[in-house]
Amino acid sequence: MNPAPKRVEIPPFPGGKRIAVTTSFDDGVVEDRRVVAAFNEWGLKGTFNLNSGGLDGKGHIAASEVSSLYRGHEVAVHTVTHPHLPKLDSTQIAREVLDDRIALEDLVGYPVRGMAYPFGTYNPMVIDCLRQLGIVYARSTENAGNCFPPTEPLAWKTTAHQYAREPDTVPERFAKLCENPNYSGVFFIWGHTYEFDRKNDWPSFERIYRPLAGKPDVWYCTNIELFDYEAARHRLVIAANRATAFNPSALPVTLCADGKLVVIPPGQTTPLPAA
Ligand SMILES: [Zn+2]
Repeated sequence: MNPAPKRVEIPPFPGGKRIAVTTSFDDGVVEDRRVVAAFNEWGLKGTFNLNSGGLDGKGHIAASEVSSLYRGHEVAVHTVTHPHLPKLDSTQIAREVLDDRIALEDLVGYPVRGMAYPFGTYNPMVIDCLRQLGIVYARSTENAGNCFPPTEPLAWKTTAHQYAREPDTVPERFAKLCENPNYSGVFFIWGHTYEFDRKNDWPSFERIYRPLAGKPDVWYCTNIELFDYEAARHRLVIAANRATAFNPSALPVTLCADGKLVVIPPGQTTPLPAA
């Protein structure tokens, strides 16, 4: 039998990449079209939180274009009518979330499991309610720098709003993390695409987001991809003798055996090479 590696680690992201970049945009407005087109060109991924009650094709995206526009990105719940959820009773909270989820699933053709809170407002009763509705994570508007994995996925904080300036702007902050070879974590930026239009500030869109793209040691992912990969990592089984690993999940998971990256394919048991 081949010698087993001395040390086996499970890096946080696929391919052993040390930073994950993810973004989140609310309300499903027509300015999303310009952002999605640029993201597709640059290789960035977005999560788009939609109110199914407002997909009118005027200020907001039309229901009929949701599936094609957001292909390759994530569509997530933002409730049907964008209320302050803590002001509703639990039945109405459930309807706002579940009716939105169902309407969006009818459009995109996959299970919708993510959410962003309208106005960023929630309380323990809202969280309890979401737990019953198959919502995996719910994004707030609070900021927490390296925000993953959250202790409460239904009160998930972001790294920063796209226009944040304290202590640095988004591209400045990202550049510092990239320059630090010991840093590993999630860089999660959120906003509204209409902010660039209302402020007549599309140059800022390019200034903020373009520098995030194209880095070889960054994983570009949607919000739900982060949670799915984290779940797959936690399911991975490494033999006590470190000679093999079994991946019971449906996603390939990257291991680091004596400093060498090894991908364990879904459903397979793979020998781990020693250095
Ligand atoms: Zn909103």
